[in-house]
Amino acid sequence: MKSLPYFSRGEVVRGFGRGSKELGIPTANFPDSVVEHLPADISTGIYYGWACVGNGDVHKMVMSIGWNPYYKNTKKSMETHVIHTYKEDFYGEILSVVMVGYIRPERGFDSLDALITAIHGDIEEAKRRLDLPEHRKLQEDNFFKMSPSPIMNGH
Ligand code: ADP
Ligand code: MG
Repeated sequence: MKSLPYFSRGEVVRGFGRGSKELGIPTANFPDSVVEHLPADISTGIYYGWACVGNGDVHKMVMSIGWNPYYKNTKKSMETHVIHTYKEDFYGEILSVVMVGYIRPERGFDSLDALITAIHGDIEEAKRRLDLPEHRKLQEDNFFKMSPSPIMNGH
């Protein structure tokens, strides 16, 4: 995908309450204003990259880009699971991400267990790939050193 790596930043908003947290895999949602800037060649599916909350440390992440059922699947959603254990929720804070690579397309699962197993597989895949030197260096990118502003950029 020619748009990768893709940098994005925005406020963490409430999702659709699909209970990701109950599955042990919370996903921080971006508002529509951020999702609308996604380049056309960024297809739905699972991505991996780096993320930080506010001025915090930069951690590995996996992101799901999916069709948003709330808008009858005409709009996309961006949900980031940061591979880090936070003490508290961070709704309202600024999440900065860089999407580095693509893992797989969206797909349906026969059971919740199958879904959870797949996500854990995605997380392991993300961890492995992000250890490659060419991906490691994005963790140090100046993008993450800028004082976060709620203005979405992405370019
Ligand atoms: P929602 O439907 O509101 O997105 P989730 O169950 O997906 O609810 O939980 C997401 C929220 O959990 C995030 O907005 C954030 O405040 C919090 N959170 C805590 N730890 C993480 C993490 N490691 N990655 C993403 N979000 C996290
Ligand atoms: Mg969520």
